[in-house]
Amino acid sequence: MKQDLYLYNSLSNKKERFEPVKEGYVGMYVCGPTVYSNVHLGNVRTFMSFDMIYRYFLHLGYKVRYVRNITDAGHLTDDSDEDKISKKARLEQLEPMEIVQKYTTDFHLILQKFNFLPPSIEPTATGHILEQIEAIETILENGLAYEVNGSVYFDVLKYNEKEHYGILSKRNIEDAIENTRALDGQSDKKNPQDFALWKKAEPEHIQRWNSPWGIGFPGWHLECTVMSTKYLGEQFDIHGGGMDLKFPHHECEIAQAQACNHQNPVKYWLHGNMLTMNGKKMAKSTGNNILPDEIFSGDNPNISKSFAPSVARFFMMQAHYRSILDFSNDAILAAEKGYNRLMDSIDLMIKLQPAGSSSLDVASWKAKCYQAMSDDFNTPVLIAHLFEGVKWINLVNDGKETLTASDLDVLVSTMNVFTFDILGLENSKKSDNDTERLDGLVKLLIEMRKTARDDRNWELSDKIRDELIVLGIQLKDGKEGTTYSIS
Ligand code: AMP
Ligand code: ZN
Repeated sequence: MKQDLYLYNSLSNKKERFEPVKEGYVGMYVCGPTVYSNVHLGNVRTFMSFDMIYRYFLHLGYKVRYVRNITDAGHLTDDSDEDKISKKARLEQLEPMEIVQKYTTDFHLILQKFNFLPPSIEPTATGHILEQIEAIETILENGLAYEVNGSVYFDVLKYNEKEHYGILSKRNIEDAIENTRALDGQSDKKNPQDFALWKKAEPEHIQRWNSPWGIGFPGWHLECTVMSTKYLGEQFDIHGGGMDLKFPHHECEIAQAQACNHQNPVKYWLHGNMLTMNGKKMAKSTGNNILPDEIFSGDNPNISKSFAPSVARFFMMQAHYRSILDFSNDAILAAEKGYNRLMDSIDLMIKLQPAGSSSLDVASWKAKCYQAMSDDFNTPVLIAHLFEGVKWINLVNDGKETLTASDLDVLVSTMNVFTFDILGLENSKKSDNDTERLDGLVKLLIEMRKTARDDRNWELSDKIRDELIVLGIQLKDGKEGTTYSIS
């Protein structure tokens, strides 16, 4: 279904009608994780918002190239010249690539549990060192960077003579100077707001590569410029990430891309808002966070029980991606209630009987669902419409409203499309039900086998046992009766 879609562009601070660079195609780049520790629920929120956006574009029939990188080098810690991965490798006495592998695997496993669609390309910083060196050479040739003592820095003041450094974060250069001085431990720089394109590696720095400027490693901001250009072109449609990346990371990305390609790289900048806990941003560094595995196991003092991944997903989708969302036990318990209500009526709707006429306007309800999503991916409004659908399902089931067969089809398919394909929820209640059903069936067969054995009907009892083995279900006879295991 083609229809107008509006999205909020952080560059203009306005909602704009989406007009892709190339008709029918969407190029989308999202800054991925720095893989030096487990992702917390806050990180997951940002990635989930873009998973939902990706799903909606796919549903609308766009061909989407979705690039989400893995930062496995170069992301400097706030307090030193060392990057996060090298620091962790040194502390844990591991090879940096062991750290990278461990946390990349964890990241993928977690996202799978939350039912994420994989991106089209997941490039790594370390896989694009050559391209980063080439980009630095171009920026040097264009006079917007300088080399000092084996490091190369972007010359922000020079860039700002012709372009606007601060165009995205709405800062002026004086603010930038103000903000960077405090963190600055890099005395080689001409000006404190300059940022590293290439850093000389001190002898103890483990991640290191050869370059025209000596042995070193790339600056964090550069990888995203290089990889987005390589896979999506010099100008592409959407660049996303959390709000906290707007400055300096995304600001620097714009400057680097302009310095290389002389054009604005991104049409629409989309930023997701933060997940907070106790009113404060969830963050790795402060310890104010909750890990996805703690949600699934209930093993965290901030929660009273475990929650299914889809419940956590529903909790996140109930908030607009640009609003702050505060995590609390009460909030996720309430989300679980809502999620269960939605899933109960989804289970019920396939049993509804059609009538000769409809008393409900299903077509305009469906249109409202699309309008909500096409209005800057407004999932809370969409969910309110889905609950209107829940109400209707119950009314039709109670015989208080009626729907024709074709309207019933529209209701069922619209509920399914938005709940499962676009919000990305899974019916975890259904899988619980399925497990219960399987357990009941196997126990029934065990009972029938016992009766067969009591009757000395060995043929039947062996048949039950053997056929179950073929299905991967092993029966084990013991003193306390027969138990089973599933392989
Ligand atoms: P990092 O691995 O620190 O680079 O973060 C990965 C992504 O998670 C980035 O897009 C961040 O903006 C995002 N992020 C970090 N903390 C939060 C939070 N509390 N809520 C939402 N997104 C976050
Ligand atoms: Zn990035």
